[in-house]
Amino acid sequence: MTISGIMSSVSVALPVKGKVSLITGSTSGIGLGIARALAGAGSDVVLNGFGKPEEIEAARDGVAKDYGVRVDYSPADMSKPDSIAEMIETTLRKFGRLDVLVNNAGIQHVAPLQEFPAAKWDAIIAINLSSAFHTTRLALPGMIANKWGRIINIASAHGLVGSAFKSAYVAAKHGMLGLTKVTALEVAEMGVTCNAICPGYVYTPLVEAQIEGQAKAHGIPREQVIREVLLAQQPNKRFATTDELGSIAVFLTSDAAASITGAAIPVDGGWTAH
Ligand code: NAD
Repeated sequence: MTISGIMSSVSVALPVKGKVSLITGSTSGIGLGIARALAGAGSDVVLNGFGKPEEIEAARDGVAKDYGVRVDYSPADMSKPDSIAEMIETTLRKFGRLDVLVNNAGIQHVAPLQEFPAAKWDAIIAINLSSAFHTTRLALPGMIANKWGRIINIASAHGLVGSAFKSAYVAAKHGMLGLTKVTALEVAEMGVTCNAICPGYVYTPLVEAQIEGQAKAHGIPREQVIREVLLAQQPNKRFATTDELGSIAVFLTSDAAASITGAAIPVDGGWTAH
């Protein structure tokens, strides 16, 4: 391989070397998978989210040891604008920059509209949608000054289609796609891209708990729960993995994705192709 060949493969493998990424809701599941992938691609990372202190510490140590990058953790509550502002300020103070923002924190509540608790509606809109507005408005000035930034919003197949009993979640995820488009348009000439990833079902500890719970509740084998209950809408009948989502996020930070902006990328095994 020529020197230039080596150089180009290095830049492809480590598209965010020397950069700083903040991933909201990254103490578990998809957020942690994306944080690990960005660290593997050379970025220092800021983790955020809730959980047991020892598990957060283990996640933080794991990323630092496995990839040799700097890892910070913010306990900021994504339902609180002041807490979000403090998280961004602390990141900028400690690292001097914020290059990649992944808006991933999210919660769910399932109930018919007429029984949907108003407080749950408010919490889901705040955490799944408004937090992305606050992080984005505070991260953009630095990205614009550096003429480079990547914002990745983790929406859902439910940003593209609805499902009964998930009013707040579906509304927030549709809103996330609107925010993605407007962000992309406002900074299109400034070296900053903003895209949404729209996963169908992704295999996480939460999904594993649902498989076990449904299998017990219905007295049916787990394979049947996976095919007929959880993946009923998902034509390929397989869960996406957190590693796959991490790789897609890394791709969106790479030079190859410089012209991809304002997009909603389905990762749903064909669900929204129906
Ligand atoms: P998860 O429950 O494993 O992780 C959610 C993360 O958000 C955790 O780190 C949690 O601590 C954090 N969080 C929750 N409330 C918070 C708050 N107020 N402030 C800060 N952090 C908070 O869930 P996941 O499955 O990894 O989901 C991550 C994102 O992906 C969510 O936005 C979810 O809607 C989306 N998504 C998930 C799936 C799936 O199948 N798992 C599918 C489509 C979309």
